[in-house]
Amino acid sequence: MYYIHRSSKRLRDFDSSVFQKIFQKQQTLKNPIDLSVGLPEGPTPQYIKDAGIQAIQNDLTEYTPANGIPALREAIASKLLEDNDIAIDTTDITIVPGLTTGLLMVYLAVLDPGDEVMVMDPSYPPYHYLVPIADAVLKRVPTLPNFQLDLEAIQANITDKTKLIVINTPNNPTGAVYPKEDLVKLAEIAKKHNILIISDEMYESFIYEGSHFSIGSIYPNTITMNGFSKAYAMTGWRLGYVTGPTEIIKAINQLQQYAVFCSSSIAQQAALAALSRPTLPRDSYAKKRQLVKDSLEKAGYDVQGNDGAYYTFFKTPQGQKDIDFAAKAADHNLLLLPGRAFSTEETYVRLSYGGTIETVQRGLDIITEITNQA
Ligand code: PLP
Repeated sequence: MYYIHRSSKRLRDFDSSVFQKIFQKQQTLKNPIDLSVGLPEGPTPQYIKDAGIQAIQNDLTEYTPANGIPALREAIASKLLEDNDIAIDTTDITIVPGLTTGLLMVYLAVLDPGDEVMVMDPSYPPYHYLVPIADAVLKRVPTLPNFQLDLEAIQANITDKTKLIVINTPNNPTGAVYPKEDLVKLAEIAKKHNILIISDEMYESFIYEGSHFSIGSIYPNTITMNGFSKAYAMTGWRLGYVTGPTEIIKAINQLQQYAVFCSSSIAQQAALAALSRPTLPRDSYAKKRQLVKDSLEKAGYDVQGNDGAYYTFFKTPQGQKDIDFAAKAADHNLLLLPGRAFSTEETYVRLSYGGTIETVQRGLDIITEITNQA
């Protein structure tokens, strides 16, 4: 005899089905041209795979400290100093099983009921979807149409309840890169109002013009998050790291102890090896980025952002709904993501050019073909 149990109220309206639907759609199409998911080009490099295999062979398969193995935290501290100008103690770094989980842990560690979290619109979906899970209040600040930070709107949305501002540069889904001057101004605003910043720098190595600037280098009340999924093509290994103010990292570690116990010991050894060499080369991404820009512009689209990461977020023709345009693309065997997963706007789609240049080219040809179809 089964009783009907309902899910918690917290999750009753929780909807992450956009991604599930895409995965289902992938199964139904024969060899789809997939420009939907955010996978980097190619598999995990061999030297990283070897390190993972070695870890298993050497029986490095036991629990690790909740905050990760010291050697990995040391390597991350050196990387942060060298690449990001962030000088941080290894105890102020914690290893997490991917940034997505890391974000949830940060939210749970810093937010009290009623606290406000400012998230840019559009943005990576967990930023906004996970806010209510922490009983906090979401404030979305538009970055449309150029996808840059609107510092005035950010100022205007600050209240005495604002606890966090979440930023992501280079950006998913827009490819925008925030200039240093804006990040400096944002840091000044945050400082004035004593607000914490979360800076997700997952795509820092995918930058095609200018260079990456970490706001954590000038504003200590920053929680800098980064990981291995994109820079080293390790999406399925599930590993990332969070660094920031000591008290917050301590709280995350307390939570990690019972929420995950530790991240995979094997993935940690592989990540340690990953950091011994530079991130994946960008040349092919730079070519694809230009190809996407040129083709979309030729087809009549206004291309904004597109300066970093490997995404382009563009407005559908004639105000078509994102889901209708994505469905039309799917009828032509092309997968794109409807913009509503990222935004309150429903007339954008996201294109990922993480795949091979041939795949991207085929996808762009289809977009050109369907652009003028009603
Ligand atoms: N942050 C951003 C901005 C992303 O786009 C993604 C994945 O697409 C992630 C984090 C996910 O990171 P992880 O694989 O470490 O969970």
